[in-house]
Amino acid sequence: MISDKNEEYKDVNGNIATIPAGFSVSIKDDEQIINDGLVVKSPDESEFVWVPVKNINTMAQCEKAGGNCNLQLQSNGTLKCITHNSTDIVGKLYATEAGEHFGTLNINYDANNGLREPAVIKGNKDGDEYDAEYYSVAGFDSVDDMLSQLKNEYKVMAQSVAKYKGFYISRYEISFSSSTETKEGTTGNLQSKANVMPASAVKEQGNMWYGFYKLQKEYANTDEMKKSSIGSSMIWGSQYDAMINWANTGKDANKTKENTNGNHSGEKSCTGKYVNDKINNIYDLEGNLFEYTLESHFWGAKVSRGSCFRRGTDFQEGDAQSPSSRYLVSPSWAYSDQGSRMTLYIK
Ligand SMILES: [Zn+2]
Repeated sequence: MISDKNEEYKDVNGNIATIPAGFSVSIKDDEQIINDGLVVKSPDESEFVWVPVKNINTMAQCEKAGGNCNLQLQSNGTLKCITHNSTDIVGKLYATEAGEHFGTLNINYDANNGLREPAVIKGNKDGDEYDAEYYSVAGFDSVDDMLSQLKNEYKVMAQSVAKYKGFYISRYEISFSSSTETKEGTTGNLQSKANVMPASAVKEQGNMWYGFYKLQKEYANTDEMKKSSIGSSMIWGSQYDAMINWANTGKDANKTKENTNGNHSGEKSCTGKYVNDKINNIYDLEGNLFEYTLESHFWGAKVSRGSCFRRGTDFQEGDAQSPSSRYLVSPSWAYSDQGSRMTLYIK
């Protein structure tokens, strides 16, 4: 049944999720249990999985950080750290460096260095300017505008996650096209559907981090989707970590640190094709394409997650090439092995 307003959904275990207006719950029994991955369909038939976040303090902190933040939702809907009397909310990440094993918290938060979000990267001594050069491709007026909007977008997302105790993640790697391996499709049609070629199959600006960012943000802004009262975004690093932390409590926990599932064949394939690359009903977290996030690193990289269709020899540290792993990417390059993962938050 499809409702014209947000509806609370209770599964057989009594766990609760919110179904956005215009969305429907999968009719398959094994896609209706929140702990195993509740699958919903959006009005354009893209599929998303609910990621429960019982306590926002496991996913976010204030910029003072230090490990003792206590975020509480205020009666006016604002998320505030009671410990530090701050409403500047930032991501709590489960690594302090790329290549590190998943699980070390970034409680020494540095707004200008290391793994962090929300943040912009302004370039290096070699003249690469990254966000300072490409902000307009992502839809911003200036790099300062980009930082200010990203800070606000993080706060709005975190407030929603605190209120609804979860968010949605795209079930499939993001595609800008309905192309399949054997059939040319239309482009510019952002979706999370099985059997389509992911974004990097399309030669367009979207291959850059900036294009991925803009298209995923616009997903919720069409007339059709506006009725659903959701916001859409490229996934934040702390949301990706929340998804991994959730998966680590479930039936597919072993897969978050494995590197043998999914497409490592050397060739890109349609998303959802490799059924062993499925964690709580989410496909291709490991193989096929790396997944861009909104997380930044130092001056010149965005953080990408998982691994890809190639199996390199240069990723031997930590939880390398597993869904938990982090990988640094220059966002202005159009890599053929980069995809992304979209999230929805409820308004
Ligand atoms: Zn704090």
